[in-house]
Amino acid sequence: MTKYSRLIFFGPPGAGKGTQAKTLSQECGIPHIATGDILRNAIAQQTAVGQKAQSYVNNGDLVPDEILAALVRDRLQQPDAQSGWILDGFPRTLNQAEFLDQLLSELNSAYDLVIYLDVPDEILIQRLLGRGRKDDTKDTIRHRLDVFHGQTEPLIQFYQQENRFLQVDGNQPLPQVTERIKTAMQEGQ
Ligand code: AMP
Repeated sequence: MTKYSRLIFFGPPGAGKGTQAKTLSQECGIPHIATGDILRNAIAQQTAVGQKAQSYVNNGDLVPDEILAALVRDRLQQPDAQSGWILDGFPRTLNQAEFLDQLLSELNSAYDLVIYLDVPDEILIQRLLGRGRKDDTKDTIRHRLDVFHGQTEPLIQFYQQENRFLQVDGNQPLPQVTERIKTAMQEGQ
């Protein structure tokens, strides 16, 4: 049992959030809630949300906040999310971060720890080009990095004001990153 079980993962595309979140989710038995995966699923199934989100995701743009807000509100109220979760890819804007604070207080909940995975752009570009997802073309990658620096990076200041922020060097071997996060989950540092 870890001390902390409500985690927010954020970082640039290709930082390894998904990989780390998946590993920790399995090892700690906490659901992994990845908004990108949920959106890709919705697109594959051509649900109403999927149809609205499709062009944004394919172009590497952020899907409008209202869509994400409804999706996260619904997901955090599912039974499996009552004793913990790893949010991966949400929030991505200050507006989303403020929404999440409000939602958690409505639900009488709170996040325990924000983990920021830091990786330099050059490394990210190499990693993403090797990944080969539909939105991993050269132009889209550049665009997603710009979106990250413009819209998501300000979350560092937002969350740093609190004592629940951990910056991890994501440019090191995967198991080392996992261990660093696990220590923080167990000891709260
Ligand atoms: P990801 O799998 O986290 O890289 O997300 C893939 C794509 O899904 C992003 O480029 C966005 O188009 C969309 N997306 C995922 N999460 C969010 C979010 N929190 N806000 C807006 N768009 C999102």
